Amino acid sequence: MASSGKDFTNGKRTPTGKKNASCSFCRKSYREVGPLVEGPEDVYVCGECVELCQSILDQERRRRGTPHKLFTKVPSPRDIVTHLDKYVVGQSQTKKMLAVAVHNHYKRLMLNTDTDNDVEIEKSNVLMIGPTGSGKTLIAKTLAKFLQVPFAIGDATTLTEAGYVGEDVENLLLKLLHTCDFDVESAQRGIVFIDEIDKIGKTSNNVSITRDVSGEGVQQALLKMLEGTVANVPPQGGRKHPEQQYIQLDTTNILFICGGTFVGLEDIVARRMGRKMIGFGQDNSSHDDKLRRYEMIHDATVEDILEYGLIPELVGRLPVLTTLSKLCESDLVRVLTEPKNALVRQFQKYFEMEESVLEVTPEAIREIAKIAIQKDTGARGLRSVIENAMFDILYELPDQEPGKKYVLTPEVIRGESHLFPQDGSAAA
Ligand code: ADP
Repeated sequence: MASSGKDFTNGKRTPTGKKNASCSFCRKSYREVGPLVEGPEDVYVCGECVELCQSILDQERRRRGTPHKLFTKVPSPRDIVTHLDKYVVGQSQTKKMLAVAVHNHYKRLMLNTDTDNDVEIEKSNVLMIGPTGSGKTLIAKTLAKFLQVPFAIGDATTLTEAGYVGEDVENLLLKLLHTCDFDVESAQRGIVFIDEIDKIGKTSNNVSITRDVSGEGVQQALLKMLEGTVANVPPQGGRKHPEQQYIQLDTTNILFICGGTFVGLEDIVARRMGRKMIGFGQDNSSHDDKLRRYEMIHDATVEDILEYGLIPELVGRLPVLTTLSKLCESDLVRVLTEPKNALVRQFQKYFEMEESVLEVTPEAIREIAKIAIQKDTGARGLRSVIENAMFDILYELPDQEPGKKYVLTPEVIRGESHLFPQDGSAAA
């Protein structure tokens, strides 16, 4: 490099290419580390050391939790719902309730960092009740992404009271810390989704000698976290050891969204409301009957959830209660085609990557939805239905002649026919 770089007139520091100069920090020469930035009195610094200094300063800032506002503007509930609508089909009531809860939560955080807050608003953790594959996780995940806050998913069934075999509740917080590179301040404003909260009910009959059978101990441990506590998070995960160093994480401003299927809750609701159960929702009744019976879940109250087996303190810490509907066949058709990353679009993308075209007929889409309904796993079953039907072609496609068009029909979905390239080019 020809430039001498020695340019301190005007206070400008330019990279130097002096052949015998070396970095004053790591002592490496210009030849080893490339251009150096020159300071006064023959002091130089190389790019690597600048980066290192930057990361040390970043770490220190995080460690001290230098206060800075994470939000300057919180999207309105309407904005949140509009965004959720792009990814989540149906469930409009849940979307609205969550949008309000989340908006208020982050607005509260924004105001709390200001000085003039005389009324302290408590946070509103959320309890989402809905069948498998109805969008509980999807909604929570989409929300966190939209708000650009750290997000972690945990499963209540893997949690145990400290001292038992299983995960400590603090490991949920560790997951959150992982997603934001151990930025404690960000993690303290994150969202944690705890699935299968219904499985730790007192009355659930999980029988094990190595874990807290009643589930109540786990509920108590969760309760503390939901209420807001300074948790000691083991940075390596796993069990806590007395000699280990912990990261202290304040959970006061973390939004907890708990989800569960609460199978049979509708029976508790029906009983309370004095509905007759004969022939209604039994095993041999029609799908529509079952669906209608399931819809009673929307009338669930806190008392019903207590009867289900959650302890009152825990339910008290989940003031926003929302229920999701089972997705019906036409909802599943929409799930397949409408969201931004809809499954049909994803599979079409695979074909596009191989320079081919996949056309999916409306009848095929309906057939996929119909088969998924029989599986009773909501939208979760859709992917496997398509994958089963397309497995062979996905295996073959990269070796096939490009530029062909493939048409997915109900017969292919049912396994009665294979997906062959059509005559003529894809463009035809
Ligand atoms: P759960 O209610 O069991 O948490 P998930 O949210 O994990 O269900 O859904 C599983 C998958 O099914 C999601 O990744 C998504 O692709 C799809 N899905 C479920 N519900 C919906 C919905 N309402 N709208 C769009 N896709 C959905």
